[in-house]
Amino acid sequence: MIIDDYKHKGLRKKLVKELQGKGIYDQAVLDSILNVPRHIFLDTAFLEQAYTDKAFQIGEGQTISQPYTVAFQTQLLEIKKGEKVLEIGTGSGYQASVLCYMETKLYSIERIKSLSKNASLIFQKLGYKPELMVGDGSLGWKVHSPFQKIIVTAGAPLAPEPLLEQLDLGGILVIPIGDQKVQTMVRYKKDLTGKITKEEHGIFKFVPLLGEKAWKTTQKI
Ligand code: SAH
Repeated sequence: MIIDDYKHKGLRKKLVKELQGKGIYDQAVLDSILNVPRHIFLDTAFLEQAYTDKAFQIGEGQTISQPYTVAFQTQLLEIKKGEKVLEIGTGSGYQASVLCYMETKLYSIERIKSLSKNASLIFQKLGYKPELMVGDGSLGWKVHSPFQKIIVTAGAPLAPEPLLEQLDLGGILVIPIGDQKVQTMVRYKKDLTGKITKEEHGIFKFVPLLGEKAWKTTQKI
């Protein structure tokens, strides 16, 4: 059962104000942050901090992104209801839940099985039904392509070409690109003729995207 009382809701209201102050203006994104209970993605020990604008450890050396980062990436996606969206890096499931709340048809890939499993239990509790896969998201998810939107929530050395290929005409890919410490948020737009343009949107810090078309890893999935 989920405990989400007036105190949590009050803290989310404050968080939304803070995000507006930092430049988030997309009302659908703000509504989603206002409604998705972030505290259930963290250990109960961190309950107090769930609505501060900070990233947290979620185990396996991975993190739940900072609310501002989640809001900023989601805003760059220009989400419309009913769109097919691919997320790489399910992690805690928080970003995925923000996208599900916005009524997207979500597909999410995570390379660490235990994280995907934990996230799936939370989706059940929240009544969201994303399609989940444990595997290498740098390869995309071809059978379900094309996707109108693709979001990568780990830092990559470059945009994996399968993701650009699996992006629909008129689609948007948002991905942090850089080295393993610091990245630039990049937005790719594919126009209706298939031409791809690139914009840069500031500096962020993510855990690395590991995989065949990203940072090489010897670890097995
Ligand atoms: N979206 C998450 C943030 C997760 S951090 C959230 O809201 O909590 C990034 C995640 O990407 C980590 O869980 C990491 O295991 C995963 N990851 C890294 N490389 C990956 C790959 N090639 N395929 C799928 N997931 C990957």
